[in-house]
Amino acid sequence: MSTLLITDVGSLVTNDPAHGTGPLGLLEDAAVLVEAGRVAWVGPAASAPAADERYEAGGRALLPGFVDSHAHLVFAGDRTAEFNARMSGQSYSAGGIRTTVAATRAASDEELDANLVRFLNEALRQGTTTVECKSGYGLTVADEARALRIAASHTPETTYLGAHVVAPEFADDPAAYVELVTGEMLDACAPHARWVDVFCEQGAFDGDQARAVLTAGAERGLIPRVHANQLSHGPGVQLAVELGAASADHCTHLSDADVAALAESDTVATLLPGAEFSTRAKYPDARRLLDAGATVALSTDCNPGSSFTSSMAFCIAVAVREMGMTPDEAVYAATAGGARALRRTDVGGITVGARADLQLLDAPSHVHLAYRPGVPLTAAVWRAGVRMV
Ligand SMILES: [Zn+2]
Repeated sequence: MSTLLITDVGSLVTNDPAHGTGPLGLLEDAAVLVEAGRVAWVGPAASAPAADERYEAGGRALLPGFVDSHAHLVFAGDRTAEFNARMSGQSYSAGGIRTTVAATRAASDEELDANLVRFLNEALRQGTTTVECKSGYGLTVADEARALRIAASHTPETTYLGAHVVAPEFADDPAAYVELVTGEMLDACAPHARWVDVFCEQGAFDGDQARAVLTAGAERGLIPRVHANQLSHGPGVQLAVELGAASADHCTHLSDADVAALAESDTVATLLPGAEFSTRAKYPDARRLLDAGATVALSTDCNPGSSFTSSMAFCIAVAVREMGMTPDEAVYAATAGGARALRRTDVGGITVGARADLQLLDAPSHVHLAYRPGVPLTAAVWRAGVRMV
């Protein structure tokens, strides 16, 4: 079994305070030993063990691979015209999703798979080594199951989102659509999914409908996560906490009670600044959540309608500039926070036993992710110890 030593790391983010300073567990002049796809040793470069191969990091920063815990990547078509109209003054509503539904239904399996692979590779080149992927652009039994089958061939983090919006065929009878989502569609999708999700929002699903969807999914062994409080105050966050969801996503419009509920629970508040950026909306207040004691994750929400970015670095930069996060907090949220939102302990940190998901920046510090916005800083990426970029 061959070993790899990544050494001369100027600044190492471990996300484990036991390894170094602060919540990021920062180590200077560090080295990481990789064996069999796992981190086998972390410490000062001067006392690193021998290895079969050496990689000289040249004093640059090494971080855990980003964990993007919220993305919608099985789709066809794009919504350039809608974005353009929105940036010319029109407002965003949940209904635009139906445009992508029509294009996705019309696409072949091969097209959807090729699209997904393109976005996963795009993300990987930018340091993302774990990606969650939702259905939600099929909205028929066959199309939702197909989306999850395709997603599951590339990531274990698959989420059944039949309750993205009411399918156009059920516009006059949303109750019948919820019945489908919690019945026949769930039966077809559950074998390919780890998670169940619902867009709890005006124009999508109300609290009772969301509860029905999440409860039915949980009965089939799927773990809840919720699109909550994105466009308005609503019951999504409280429902997520009550049902023990892994994550409440968006969290843009929160009451004091919502913030307190998140802080007192294991439900992660996943913030998706790409959505507010791309809909020219008010950003979520990360500072308020962090000060209350909530766990915060940052993710891209990559989708063709409301947030067409796969860049976690972009999300970090916006979170620091607009949402009151420090660079350390934002980097933690984009790595360890995402791992928490996916209930993963093997990714999101560089600690002994963790999967060797590593990204090297062309920069001396992780702070440069916010300090140098828009600059492609990813110099090298390893996933499970294999050099990918
Ligand atoms: Zn989303």
